[in-house]
Amino acid sequence: MTHNIREYKDVWVFIEHDNGRIEHVSLELLTKGRQLAKDLGCKICAFTVGDKVEIFSNKLSEYGAEKFYFVENPVLKEYRTEPYRDSLLYLIEKYKPEIILIGATTLGRDIAATLATKLDTGLTADTTALDIDFESDAKNLLMTRPTFGGNLMAVIYCPDNRPQMSTVRPGVFQAIKDPVNIEKIREEFEFFEDKIPKKILERVKTESDKVNLSFYDVIIAGGRGIGKKENIKLLEDLARTLGGTWAVSRKVVQMGWAPYSRQVGQTGQTVHPKIYIAAGISGAIQHLAGMKSSEIIVAINKDPHAPIFDIATYGIVGDAIEILPRLTQFFSDK
Ligand code: FAD
Repeated sequence: MTHNIREYKDVWVFIEHDNGRIEHVSLELLTKGRQLAKDLGCKICAFTVGDKVEIFSNKLSEYGAEKFYFVENPVLKEYRTEPYRDSLLYLIEKYKPEIILIGATTLGRDIAATLATKLDTGLTADTTALDIDFESDAKNLLMTRPTFGGNLMAVIYCPDNRPQMSTVRPGVFQAIKDPVNIEKIREEFEFFEDKIPKKILERVKTESDKVNLSFYDVIIAGGRGIGKKENIKLLEDLARTLGGTWAVSRKVVQMGWAPYSRQVGQTGQTVHPKIYIAAGISGAIQHLAGMKSSEIIVAINKDPHAPIFDIATYGIVGDAIEILPRLTQFFSDK
C-alpha cells in the first residue's frame, strides 16, 4: 500500500531513555535531524513515551528540539514492546512525521521493526550516513548502510511510503547543543494492563563488559603492534591517566586479546573523541571508518610508511611498547 506522502511533515527523533537518563544516541540524532529538517524546511521534533518523560524537555530544547511529543503513564515504567509500540504508533499516526530516526540500540532495533511493520513502511537498519536527495521531487531521505559483511555501502531510500524510517548506529554523528524554545505536546493514551502479554517481575542487572566507547573524549587504541594480550594493560594505564578509555583494532579481537565490545571500525563501534591515540595500528580502511573523524589523532607505529600516518595529526615513529608507558609516566607526573 502506498501513502499520500504530502500529508507527512517534520523530522522526528525517538528519545530512548533508561532510569531517567536520555541515551546519548538520541541527542546525536537530534543534531543530525536538525540539519535534515533545515534541508527540508520543516521542524525537528523529539518524541517518546515512558513513566516520567516530561522532565527531558529542558535537555531536548538544549539540543535543538522544537517540539516534544510524549505520552506519560506508569504502565510504561519499564520497556515492553507492546505498550511502547501502541502509544508511539498513536503519536505517529496522529501527527504523521516524514522521517523517523531511532538509535540502533537493542531497544531501538526492537521498537523500530515493530513500528515499521504496523505503519506499513520501510525501515533501513544500522545506517551510517543520512542525506536528502534534492534531485527527487519528494526530497527522499538517502540512508547509507554497510552491506555484504561491510564490503559494500548501500544507499537505500523509501520512495512511496511514509514515514521514512531508519535506525542509526550510535557514535556516527556528534551531539551538539543548539538551544531553542521547545513546544511540549502531551498526549493521553489508554492502556489495559491485562492485555499486555509481558509482565516485568524483576530487573536484574547483568555484569557485562559492554562499553559505549563513544561516551569518551580520550581513547587509547591498540593494534596487533602491541604484541601480546598482557600489553592491553599499557592501553588501560594511559587511558586511566588521561581520564579516557581503551579500544582495539579487529586484529586484536581476532587474536583473543580483547573482547569485541572494544573494537573500533566498520564492524565495531564508531567514535569521534577529542583525542584518539592509535598504537601499533596500521590504519586499514575498515579501522579508519570507525575513528577518522576524531578531533586529534596521534599515531604510534614502528613503520614510518604505515597508512595511519596519512590521517594522523601527530605521528610518533617508534615502539608502542616503550612509548605507551613513557606517556603514562609523563602525564601522571603532571
Ligand atoms: P596490522 O594491520 O597487522 O598492523 C599492525 C601495525 O602495528 C603495523 O602497522 C606495524 O608496523 C605496527 N607495529 C608492529 N609492532 C609495533 C610496535 N612494537 N610498536 C608500534 N607499531 C608496531 N579492522 C578494524 O580495526 N575494525 C573493524 O571494524 C574492521 N572491520 C573489517 C570488516 C571487513 C569486512 C574486513 C574485510 C576487515 C575489517 N577489519 C577491521 C580488518 C582490517 O582490514 C585490518 O586487518 C585491521 O584493522 C588491522 O589491524 P591492526 O592495524 O591492528 O593490524
